[in-house]
Amino acid sequence: MFGSHLSIAGSMVNALNEGEKLGFDCVQVFTKNQQQWKAKPLDEGMVREWLARTRELAWDSGGPDGRGGIVSHASYLINLASINDDLWRKSVDLMTDEIHRCETLAIPYLVHHPGSFVGSDLPTGLQRIEDAYAELFRRTKGFRTVSCLEGTVGAGSTIGGRFEHLAEMRERIAARTASPDRIAFCLDTCHLHAAGYDLSTRDQGRAVLAEFDQRCGLKNLKVLHVNDSKGKAASKLDRHEHIGEGWIGGAVKAHAGTGTYSLARLKKSGFAAFMAHPGLARIPKILETPKVNDPKGKPYDLTNLRRLKLLSTPNP
Ligand SMILES: [Zn+2]
Ligand SMILES: [Zn+2]
Repeated sequence: MFGSHLSIAGSMVNALNEGEKLGFDCVQVFTKNQQQWKAKPLDEGMVREWLARTRELAWDSGGPDGRGGIVSHASYLINLASINDDLWRKSVDLMTDEIHRCETLAIPYLVHHPGSFVGSDLPTGLQRIEDAYAELFRRTKGFRTVSCLEGTVGAGSTIGGRFEHLAEMRERIAARTASPDRIAFCLDTCHLHAAGYDLSTRDQGRAVLAEFDQRCGLKNLKVLHVNDSKGKAASKLDRHEHIGEGWIGGAVKAHAGTGTYSLARLKKSGFAAFMAHPGLARIPKILETPKVNDPKGKPYDLTNLRRLKLLSTPNP
């Protein structure tokens, strides 16, 4: 299952249509302007059109839980780990709205960055996130949308750069809320690599997935962001690059954005391990690479999708 983060300019339904046109079978969207705290309620006519179109495309079935692979990315303003009470409360309110919007639109997965404990420490940050979820799930009892904690590059005080922290968050939220089915993970290949989980070879890719499975459980992975990395392994640099043109699938800085890559190199990279892993076959794999045209004038999403599909069959 492949998709891309696409624009909702004009109408959210445009993202579905654009995704189909590009050859995807799922999509990631923002359900609101992601830079604003306040959001207008969803337009009822648009919601009806959205639900009808997802059914028409059959994007409401298949995927990890049989509900399709459409993903919403929560606003970057949200910081559930904040020690500032005002910011924390605003974050919980906005996250509540994000969950409501997903439920209305029958979006199965809501991805968000766990948060940052700036001005405090990791244990306090983890406690704030647990407390936030206690409130969120109390407010949205019985909802079906699964919240996915996204792995980050772990720069500074941002949480989510280590599997043990992701695992601890999920376990605490699941225990506190008694809703283990509503809390899961999203991994991002660029973030993994930049966080220090080196994906530049296929064997390292396999080893990273095995470690994730052991600490976090592969069955709890619901979304994958597939991006190459402008930064080297452990650089803590969150900069996405086209597939095969960064330090995961290319390791040749001169390739960045040029449209050229080496298929032989890509097949030996961590991308090959991820694309061939049977445990990831049903998971939505979302491109968050720059939405520009390649040097031949075609949307880069087409190029990136083609490169990933060349890796989808198991390698020897
Ligand atoms: Zn991502
Ligand atoms: Zn990123």
